[in-house]
Amino acid sequence: MITNSMTSNQPSQSADAGKPLGFAKHDHTQCVSTAVAAAEARCARDGLRLTPVRKKVLELLLQEHRALGAYALLDLLKDAGFGSQPPVAYRALDFLTEHGFAHKIERLNAFVACSHPDEHHSPAFMVCRLCDAVAEAHAIPAKSMINDAAKAVGFKVERTVVEAEGICPDCVDKAPA
Ligand SMILES: [Zn+2]
Ligand SMILES: [Zn+2]
Ligand SMILES: [Zn+2]
Repeated sequence: MITNSMTSNQPSQSADAGKPLGFAKHDHTQCVSTAVAAAEARCARDGLRLTPVRKKVLELLLQEHRALGAYALLDLLKDAGFGSQPPVAYRALDFLTEHGFAHKIERLNAFVACSHPDEHHSPAFMVCRLCDAVAEAHAIPAKSMINDAAKAVGFKVERTVVEAEGICPDCVDKAPA
């Protein structure tokens, strides 16, 4: 990610054109550094080790608000000088997803950085089918509905995956009317 150091409250400009960004316009440099700092703080607090490769994978996932597959990540890791051994990348992804710093998008078999790693939560995602942009929603009512339905039949829910597929605001704008 090339950072843009212009001070501005201006809307983002054509430098971003064509890039798959998250759904909302925002200061992404800030968004990346905040997320890395939050991860570091939580690892320090909880006695977790954010090793260089784990941190690098997190940074790569944070570069764009878009899901990244394991193979794409491997390539990026290699470019960053971390070698190209799949187990290293998979272990880093396991660590990040296990501790809630990243989530797996089942539909894409890919990973995204968590948007609010400080909170314990089950994520719900909106996935753009045109550009793979991913936005993470906060708690949504569907989850408690599932839990209620499950409880009624004596089913114990261990994990709920909520993924909505559709078209993100950027792609809606670009689509011919
Ligand atoms: Zn961002
Ligand atoms: Zn999350
Ligand atoms: Zn899109």
